[in-house]
Amino acid sequence: MTPAPYDLAIIGGGAAGALVAMHCLARDPGMRIAIVEPRAALARGVAYSTTRDEHLLNVTADRMGWHADLQGDFVAWLQAVDGEGAADVGHDFMPRRRFGDYLAARLADAAASGSVVHVHEHAVACEDAGRTVLLASGERLHARACVLATGNASRPLPWPVPAEVAARVCEAWDLAAIAAIPPDARVAIVGTGLSMVDIVLALRGQQHRGAITALSRHALLPLPHEPTHMALDVDIDALAMLPLRARMRRLRALAAEAMAGGLPWQGVMQALRPYGVRLWQSLSPADQARFLRHVVRGWDVHRHRIAPQVVDMLDAMRADGQLRVDAARLAAITADGGQVVLHAAAHGAGAARCWQVDHVVNATGIQSRFPVAGDALQASLLAAGLARPGPFGLGVDVDGDGALRDRHGTAGAHLFAIGSLRIGAEWESIAVPDLRLQAARIAARLRPAARSS
Ligand SMILES: Cc1cc2nc3c(=O)[nH]c(=O)nc-3n(C[C@H](O)[C@H](O)[C@H](O)COP(=O)(O)OP(=O)(O)OC[C@H]3O[C@@H](n4cnc5c(N)ncnc54)[C@H](O)[C@@H]3O)c2cc1C
Repeated sequence: MTPAPYDLAIIGGGAAGALVAMHCLARDPGMRIAIVEPRAALARGVAYSTTRDEHLLNVTADRMGWHADLQGDFVAWLQAVDGEGAADVGHDFMPRRRFGDYLAARLADAAASGSVVHVHEHAVACEDAGRTVLLASGERLHARACVLATGNASRPLPWPVPAEVAARVCEAWDLAAIAAIPPDARVAIVGTGLSMVDIVLALRGQQHRGAITALSRHALLPLPHEPTHMALDVDIDALAMLPLRARMRRLRALAAEAMAGGLPWQGVMQALRPYGVRLWQSLSPADQARFLRHVVRGWDVHRHRIAPQVVDMLDAMRADGQLRVDAARLAAITADGGQVVLHAAAHGAGAARCWQVDHVVNATGIQSRFPVAGDALQASLLAAGLARPGPFGLGVDVDGDGALRDRHGTAGAHLFAIGSLRIGAEWESIAVPDLRLQAARIAARLRPAARSS
């Protein structure tokens, strides 16, 4: 006999999957939910699986609650666990592992009725308009609706790695491989964004003594948050009317005005934060394409800021010579006597260069193109016509609630996406403040349909 279908199947049990389950259970505690997630623990995913205290959140604790109306809930949980000493941590950047603990605890509370089942499996296909999930084991799981919460896939290095040095090249999120790097090794990190920062923090935490070189085309590092987190007064309606070039000019002028008045430029970015989706969607497709081509790198370092103490630490490591940040257009990796050699082609006035190191870490970021090469689930969605690529091929095409648009552009009632799969449609679609809003809308939309009697 086929078992009764679940009310909801969630594919991916990281922060986004956990948030969907929590929002659904808040509306309907009796809902029967299956979360398909190969990791041992739910609610952690890539970002919150780290066990290192030096890996900090890049959002302050007072804005990391699981629900938009309960933004202080993470701080309340910290106080309950740590005692009153945690009262002042609202503006602190807490260790990410603590946020994973918090989400896991809140998910367990929400699921106390036993209505959430963790299926320790990998989903490889969706069938029947999203109501059947095919698992890697060959089993099928039936549900009235399905949410894709599959998160971030790391982008592979774009060059072949010679077999003799393959063991010396690892991924930024492979914490065990980073922990195994010997303390005197010369390390090159490809990428200078948030993942690079994580690796440098981890190496420093394990008393690394060897030289670290971070390389990227523009050598732009994430900029710091400022301590007040004040949002300045920005006329969002007026901004959203402007085309890209005029909009960027206006933002630069606002930042300059703020600084001339003794206020932090970060206050301008802080003011835009709740309107990220609207600002993206109010650009014409041509301006969105221009943004992706010309603006995104500079935008990202201003938008995805990090804790000021982390910036101070990076500056100190650069000042004492342990950390170098070089601009380079890398073109190849070769091996030389067991060492790894990174090659940059000559570019403009710059001559060809190379860096000979003991270990290389790939921190080039996340893959957003749909379908990601080698992802069986995404390939199946595309082949079955249940999904089509989002704008510019980024993520999937969705309606305003996250329902997938099929190959004809029609949004269905059974299959939804949350998180980075919505990046082309919404742009701001990765951080917890965005995920909890998406989760709330999916839960509201599912309520009438996805409930077995
Ligand atoms: C290093 C790092 C630090 C970050 N720091 C912050 C921060 O401080 N604040 C903030 O707001 N945001 C932060 N972010 C953004 C972050 O992306 C989100 O906060 C959140 O973790 C995203 O969760 P997710 O569940 O969408 O993705 P993921 O964490 O990638 O989780 C997706 C899960 O889906 C599972 N999965 C994938 N495919 C399948 C499949 N086919 N079948 C079954 N399971 C599958 C994976 O195993 C994984 O556990 C950070 C991101 C990273 C990478």
